[in-house]
Amino acid sequence: MRKHGQKIEEPISCHNNRLYRDEEGTPSTLPFIDNVEELSKFIYLDKRTKKAIEQVSKFYPFTIPKFYLNLIEKDNPSCPIRRQAIPSPHEIMESGEIDPLHEKEISFTPSFIKRYPGRGVFLVSSQCAMYCRFCNRRRFVGKGWEPKLFWEETLEYLEKDDEIKEVILSGGDPLMLLPEELDYILSRLRAIRRIKTIRISTRIPVVYPEGLTSEHLKAIKRSAPLWFVIHINHPKEVSPEFVKTIRSLRKMGSIIISQTVLLRNVNDCPHILLNLFERLVHLGIKPYYLFQLDEVRGAMHFKVRLKKGIEIMKILRRNASGLAIPQYVVDITGGFGKVPVDYPYIKGKEGDLVRIESPSGLTGTYQDNGKRSKCLKCGFCKSVISG
Ligand code: SF4
Repeated sequence: MRKHGQKIEEPISCHNNRLYRDEEGTPSTLPFIDNVEELSKFIYLDKRTKKAIEQVSKFYPFTIPKFYLNLIEKDNPSCPIRRQAIPSPHEIMESGEIDPLHEKEISFTPSFIKRYPGRGVFLVSSQCAMYCRFCNRRRFVGKGWEPKLFWEETLEYLEKDDEIKEVILSGGDPLMLLPEELDYILSRLRAIRRIKTIRISTRIPVVYPEGLTSEHLKAIKRSAPLWFVIHINHPKEVSPEFVKTIRSLRKMGSIIISQTVLLRNVNDCPHILLNLFERLVHLGIKPYYLFQLDEVRGAMHFKVRLKKGIEIMKILRRNASGLAIPQYVVDITGGFGKVPVDYPYIKGKEGDLVRIESPSGLTGTYQDNGKRSKCLKCGFCKSVISG
């Protein structure tokens, strides 16, 4: 294991060099807003707010696609889209950790993180179409770090690591790559026969749907089937353009699931989340994870109490189809991994009789008297799993 050779948690020294592509993938005008003056043409900002945004963006860049800006309710300072996109003075509070999941300590190359056996995260880009104000990788995202310099090292590492069967492309946003870059990475990964599953974590269909061009789609089709994990947090993000992009991805043979971050004053309400998850299911997207916020510096104002998250999950279980219920998980600060958190439905045990409470509050029992399990000597244990 080696440490990153490059410091990536410093104030921004250069702006990202992301590109807007037209349908043919040709670089074109940038449909992004990344300075206060431009932003104030879209949305009213008083002097104090402008100054605060300037101050915050010295440490954490902001970039908002015009598409996503147009989803903001301009006269509503509490708009959930606005809160996710526009910097807040709370971000320069010192609490929280720079790298809450200690990803640097488990980086086997500067752009490959391996926390669990059998799979790992390949950081292919440090750019996103929009810099979410609660991002847990804000130590490097949008700050000019160039993962491309380490692609070869990571690909060579992946060719040798016999354990890896699944690779998660992340960053930054992998769909910020040019189509030919995405195609290159995917085809190199597909050439490693041991790697059976490729996941792509992205927010592009939500914040910048026009960024997914027909050339990207061709690359996606060439490496199908790919798993897409769409980061989406609010029903207002389910735009007609989002729906269209999801359909295009599906036509290319993609399997689509979602992840949502539980955010205070954005979506910490069972009605909002139920609406979001049901819409996703109707579109054929399985809500996969509801994340408790990582303890990342500059995002603590988004933190929701675990008790509240557990309550929300209980209400969801009472009201939603199982298809619309994600796993509520917390990534333990310090890098100890992801664990599910849920309401403790098991209330006690007397002899073999386990008392279980239903989500609607009724208590029943289950006779826990199955016979002891034993090894069938089937040979599956030859594939490595940790016990
Ligand atoms: S899209 Fe993901 S990586 Fe990019 S800023 Fe948002 S949370 Fe961070």
